[in-house]
Amino acid sequence: MMDPALAALGLSADLPGVVVDRERRGPLPLVARSAIDGAVLATVHGGGAIEMAAAAAAAQVAFLRWRAVPAPRRGELVRRIVAAVRERKADLAALITREVGKIPAEAAGEIQEWIDIGDFAVGLSRQLNGQTIPSERPHHRMMEQWHPLGPVGCISAFNFPIAVWAWNAMLALVCGDSVVWKPSEKANLCALAAHRLVAQVVADFPEAPPGLVTLVCGGREAGEALAGDPRLALVSATGSVPMGRAVAVAVAGRLGRSLLELGGNNGMIVAPSADLELAVRAIVFAAVGTCGQRCTSLRRLIVHRSLYAALLARLRAAYARLPIGDPRAAGTLVGPLIDEAAGAAMAQALAAARAQGGTLHHGERLAGPGVYVRPALVEVPSDAAIIRDETFAPILYVMPYDDLDQAIAIHNDVPQGLSSAIVTGDAREAERFLAPAGSDCGIANVNIGTSGAEIGGAFGGEKTTGGGRESGSDAWKAYMRRATNTINYGNDLPLAQGIDFTV
Ligand code: NAD
Repeated sequence: MMDPALAALGLSADLPGVVVDRERRGPLPLVARSAIDGAVLATVHGGGAIEMAAAAAAAQVAFLRWRAVPAPRRGELVRRIVAAVRERKADLAALITREVGKIPAEAAGEIQEWIDIGDFAVGLSRQLNGQTIPSERPHHRMMEQWHPLGPVGCISAFNFPIAVWAWNAMLALVCGDSVVWKPSEKANLCALAAHRLVAQVVADFPEAPPGLVTLVCGGREAGEALAGDPRLALVSATGSVPMGRAVAVAVAGRLGRSLLELGGNNGMIVAPSADLELAVRAIVFAAVGTCGQRCTSLRRLIVHRSLYAALLARLRAAYARLPIGDPRAAGTLVGPLIDEAAGAAMAQALAAARAQGGTLHHGERLAGPGVYVRPALVEVPSDAAIIRDETFAPILYVMPYDDLDQAIAIHNDVPQGLSSAIVTGDAREAERFLAPAGSDCGIANVNIGTSGAEIGGAFGGEKTTGGGRESGSDAWKAYMRRATNTINYGNDLPLAQGIDFTV
């Protein structure tokens, strides 16, 4: 019998995985499994380099037409997409739960992010403003214009199987770009369902050309082909640091533009004046939400020594009573890890932490089918090598500190730089954490956790997280090219810098 989560969206057990001008069955059969129980849900026939080249070619043709459509009309297309998403929110969320195992509240939150960025993009479609700049020359005017950039390639990770693409696609579409999507091989069903919904709205929109949105389900080969294709002016890649490094090299090699959203290793400082009740809630949501599989998941907790024992005791008690299991069951807060490899990576990291002087609380594997674990707390020395790595699982390393400068130094002493937080009742401490010599991350929070960002802010991180920014604020500028224009409305030709070049 067809799984209800697939049936509700018209997905069968055998699906085409390449969408260029229409849906096609590519040569690469990909098995779609559920993280909940490992059940095979469908086979998706994806593609590789050849299919990606076809998608890029179609996107290039579509771009040449779409860039000439007025931006507010492009916004109208996104408005219609958002209306369709609102209608199918529950079904799309149920599919996220079924395929990657998010609890329903988080899955619905992911679709809400699509709606939110869509609404943001619609407003933005009338605000792609450049500025006017005073000219040093008489009877001259300078200005900037923002023009569509070109086709955008989007590589997405499994843990936000729809939202990451939506953040990119909604902005790219209002910016006048076409979009090629290479989703995670672990979340092809979510990708197909989301893409179908958009493709339908695009097909019904008079000014939208064929090839405006394309999809190639595939593995590394398709991703590499996307990164290397010179027709894709921007490559927005979300995933692990090794993936981002490979993509960065490929895109830089052809002097393309990349937007990298890579792994995090997010820390929180809990200061002596912290509200402990608030701290525990913020820590637990950030550390165990999505079973520790968010790029912004809390992975390092740096606690003032005066609170250390009390906070650890409360966290151990909270971890002991976490409702873990099938995310479809009422009350579950922690669902499964994505697959066996994730479970093995967690076990390996815990063994390494113990070997490096760590003391483990919880972290045991629970009964399946599906990879279920009790999230782990590990008391560990702040110089243990393992805490510099992102293990994509619910492991929280806990360590004490004595003064804030030391805590900030510990906090920043990792290669990644995505999200960070301080819990404190002391305004001066909070400001020091946010100041230039404070947190070195792209996201720095006060009295909230490291995860759960809103779409209104620019999202992304520094260091090996890749430096990209997407979502709100002025992140849209990555999807456009800036043209500086100087206009002479006089009869003379004065040169800048006072240069005299009379012939
Ligand atoms: P992953 O790196 O294994 O895969 C991500 C995507 O990259 C997939 O679509 C994959 O097929 C593709 N890919 C892999 N190698 C490639 C290559 N050489 N060239 C081109 N494409 C390639 O990551 P994952 O396991 O799906 O996701 C987890 C990782 O993603 C974590 O490190 C997490 O922190 C990160 N992540 C970051 C953000 C962010 O915004 N910073 C958001 C979500 C996830």
